[in-house]
Amino acid sequence: MINRRNFIKIGTGVSFAGMVGISAFGSFPEGTVRGKDVFIERRREVPVISETDVIVCGGGPAGIAAAISAARTGAQTTLIEYHGCLGGVWTAGLLSNIIDYKNKLGIMKELVDRLGKSDAQYSAKVYDAELMKLTLDHMCVEAGVEVRLYTRVVAAYKGSRNKLEYLLTESFSGREAWKAKVFIDTTGNGDLAAYAGCGFDYGQPETGKTQPMSLMAILVGLDEKALVEEGLMGAKGGTTEPSKRKFHDEILRGGINASYTMPTMFAIRPGMVAVMANHQYGVSALDAGQISKATIEGRKEVNRIVDGLRSLGGIWKDVRIATTGAQIGIREGRRIHGLYTLTGDDLVKGARFDDAVCRATFSVDVHSLEKNSGGGYGTHGIKAQPYDIPLRSLIAKDVNGLMMAGRCLSGDFFAHASYRVTGNAVATGEAAGMVAAQAALENKLPQQITYPR
Ligand SMILES: Cc1cc2nc3c(=O)[nH]c(=O)nc-3n(C[C@H](O)[C@H](O)[C@H](O)COP(=O)(O)OP(=O)(O)OC[C@H]3O[C@@H](n4cnc5c(N)ncnc54)[C@H](O)[C@@H]3O)c2cc1C
Repeated sequence: MINRRNFIKIGTGVSFAGMVGISAFGSFPEGTVRGKDVFIERRREVPVISETDVIVCGGGPAGIAAAISAARTGAQTTLIEYHGCLGGVWTAGLLSNIIDYKNKLGIMKELVDRLGKSDAQYSAKVYDAELMKLTLDHMCVEAGVEVRLYTRVVAAYKGSRNKLEYLLTESFSGREAWKAKVFIDTTGNGDLAAYAGCGFDYGQPETGKTQPMSLMAILVGLDEKALVEEGLMGAKGGTTEPSKRKFHDEILRGGINASYTMPTMFAIRPGMVAVMANHQYGVSALDAGQISKATIEGRKEVNRIVDGLRSLGGIWKDVRIATTGAQIGIREGRRIHGLYTLTGDDLVKGARFDDAVCRATFSVDVHSLEKNSGGGYGTHGIKAQPYDIPLRSLIAKDVNGLMMAGRCLSGDFFAHASYRVTGNAVATGEAAGMVAAQAALENKLPQQITYPR
């Protein structure tokens, strides 16, 4: 609902969370620099453009599921996404491969069924990113979700009872304020929760190091059958450990020592292959400068790898990059503190919870944290059993009226290394959407909703 007569004053009023330097107001006039490096922004009036039941921030695998689910539960729902398409790492990141979806029903199954109906895709699991974009558009529109693309969440404001009340965005429309009864953070990095003042963990506890980033690419000019025959892909165009090693050897033969030693190819359609071949180490998911540098380096490496392969001739003679991801793949960001924090021990025990939202079956998958530690991935000796993800790990501990889903939900370093894959992102998003909608419709907090019903 748009009401352009409402304005929120930045820098006054409801309690503040999320802008560095607020304490700088006061004696320093706006538009000046305090010390050497703090710019005092001016106070301004921002239109409140929407008052709704549920706002979902971030339109990746978790966000689309949260928004569809909230809308289907009957809540007026808005989905805010920074890129020009829905899907997050699935689409802007060109991931092209869905893991841990087979035991998931609901929206995950619906999506796989829809993708599976497409002609000439080898499987729904290894999907065409363009088809994914279109399918997600359709599913959100059909559910009645109000989708806002090209819009970045940049701040959050709490009202009484420590409850999140407004968020602020920047977009083609300038700065805007949005009000909702319940919010869901599906930004992957937990941006909204951090702006709202939630506590979070980041990286490996002892070192603060995070998993490396990878820039995905789509290749054309390859014959998938020949790749399978050469052992560079698994039997069905997927991957096996031997095929990854062989692919690394081929890249080496082309003159490049790839930074990811288990590079992977997935066959999507005849003549279309997704590739993940690089690791960018030591890059902070919270530093745009570092991410920019990693993206430029990653694109350079992927181009060098493909040029090297083409120079080998034979099955590689026509290989070209059709496109690289608009967004480098970020494996790890903030893990927001929830009412329950899922741990590596829960994975080892195969934990069961009364408020389980889904069962995760994927292993612990930690990609090398630094350049000189093998360049591959491993479990760090943790043998995970299928385990439940509880609803409480989707409810923020420090701020009311806020839920999380996908890779920013509440867990420790090792638990995250397993639940982060997209089958679980969708399932946690779907549960968060349903609970957020019920809470909004009944004027309750998410933790006051009986789950399962
Ligand atoms: C290189 C790589 C390979 C992987 N391989 C696999 C695999 O093979 N299979 C698998 O299932 N999983 C894989 N994963 C894991 C998986 O992709 C992610 O963990 C998953 O994307 C999590 O989904 P999400 O919705 O939580 O986050 P994301 O996909 O990161 O989506 C977050 C969305 O929020 C948006 N956003 C972020 N900040 C803001 C903001 N401030 N305002 C508005 N919008 C915002 C982003 O643009 C994005 O669309 C891989 C991950 C990477 C990086």
